Amino acid sequence: MAHAVKDLFPEVKIGIGPAIEEGFYYDFEKPEPFTPEDLEKIEKRMKDIIKKGNPFTRKILRKEEAIELFKRAGESYKVELINEIADDYVSIYEEGSFIDLCRGPHIPDTSKIKAYKLLSIAGAYWKGDEKNKMLQRIYGISFDSEEALNRHLHFLEEVKKRDHRRLGKELGLFSMSEEIGAGLILWLPNGAIIRKIIEDFWRDEHIKADYKILYTPHIAKLELWKKSGHVEFYSENMYSPMDIDGVAYELKPMNCPFHINVYQSELRSYREFPLRYAELGTVYRYERSGVLHGLLRVRGFTQDDAHIFCREDQIEEEILNILNFTIFILKKFGFDKYDIYLSTRPEKFVGSLENWEKATNALKRALELKHLSYEIDPGEGVFYGPKIDIKIKDALNRSWQCSTIQVDFNIPERFNLTYRGHDGHEYRPIMIHRALMGSLERFFGILIEHYGGAFPLWLSPTQVIVMTIAERHNEFAQEINKILKDSGFRVLADLRNEKIGYKIREATLKKVPYMIIIGDREVARKTITVRKRNGENVEAINIFDFINILKGELTN
Ligand code: ZN
Repeated sequence: MAHAVKDLFPEVKIGIGPAIEEGFYYDFEKPEPFTPEDLEKIEKRMKDIIKKGNPFTRKILRKEEAIELFKRAGESYKVELINEIADDYVSIYEEGSFIDLCRGPHIPDTSKIKAYKLLSIAGAYWKGDEKNKMLQRIYGISFDSEEALNRHLHFLEEVKKRDHRRLGKELGLFSMSEEIGAGLILWLPNGAIIRKIIEDFWRDEHIKADYKILYTPHIAKLELWKKSGHVEFYSENMYSPMDIDGVAYELKPMNCPFHINVYQSELRSYREFPLRYAELGTVYRYERSGVLHGLLRVRGFTQDDAHIFCREDQIEEEILNILNFTIFILKKFGFDKYDIYLSTRPEKFVGSLENWEKATNALKRALELKHLSYEIDPGEGVFYGPKIDIKIKDALNRSWQCSTIQVDFNIPERFNLTYRGHDGHEYRPIMIHRALMGSLERFFGILIEHYGGAFPLWLSPTQVIVMTIAERHNEFAQEINKILKDSGFRVLADLRNEKIGYKIREATLKKVPYMIIIGDREVARKTITVRKRNGENVEAINIFDFINILKGELTN
């Protein structure tokens, strides 16, 4: 691609061009911006170069020689890069008239390239530093067959269609406002009702599973965050403290120290264990503006957090409990495929080797008892304890990190947590942090993309729309609307003086699961005609039979 760009635009200077997870890119310095038409021209030129079957030839040059070579070619970025290389020698690759600084390896010649596509153009600072010049980055992708390329392009189309930022706007789910600030989410009525349903489900199930629900403040004294170690280890994600009556307070980046305080509000005995505290706790964390992304990366969010206090010999059973609970919750939201990772002791750690060993083995045994396959991420545990991470797979088979289960040897020590054992002595409890959905904002973003905005019945903001063909059908439509509302369904009546086709189209765009159409025949027979959002029709039926269908779908 860079060769083609140089052929077409000889004045361009080349930056760097690595392979990345999703294809490749190259950065160029060019006075005028690349246009979509330019991309087409470049693609065509690439085709010519590929056809020639030019070999890629590796050469080792002394640094000075290489600098001289790229200086003559006017490639000042390459000169800068070579100057930063510590070795006395560098490798370059030649392909036709194109020369590049590269460590290699490369394919033998250009004819090996089978299928490719240039995807987009973006601005990128030289070396990612905003003090440097802004270059133009062209992204592309390559496959070994047209078929594989087309599959990928289709996937990218699907990703675009399901983009939660677009759907969030179209379906009235959430928004962000310049006036409020970046990374801060407004839940609009349709999104807020979904959140309420998720929260109700979450709280009910936690109470059933013997968790105690907590609510804690959004700020606390800076001293608390010093004691917890957050000021020492986590300050780059925390906001500046605020002054209240001469005392420094801090927005909370985590809920843990609050739950610790609840634990310490009474003397604890082994009889209470496992003691499980759960909270939908809103936290604030600093994220650079460049990484903020819709609902997926925000500055204020609500974690579905829980902290469990137990004895050492209860870890395994409790982890098993949490795994079962996690899988149950994720399944309810349509996720039943996941990748599981067990992260073990890093180089820098707190706690005894013996405890790490015990806890890691407990995590392993619980995974094995559940017959869950997992990968070990050696040394990737947090400094305070080993953890299990669960990445869910969505409808497009993309992985999303959501659930995490972490054993903590640090906080109980720092806060001097104790419980009275059965022998009357004081012991240190084991603490487990755990989140299932991660953050409600992020999980919602994933849900929107997973379902492409067509939420299952139990989550749909509007479950049924009752629509009329003419004004004379309004009375019966109102009657149907009331019966559904009284039965607890989220229903709307569309009695506007619009064509029925228009009403159906609108409800379909809003992805409402069921539409009820009322016309002369329905009024005369006291039945309803039901249309699903996928266009399927349900035969004229009695409203109470329809309610039974809905109820059946909700209990699935
Ligand atoms: Zn925690």
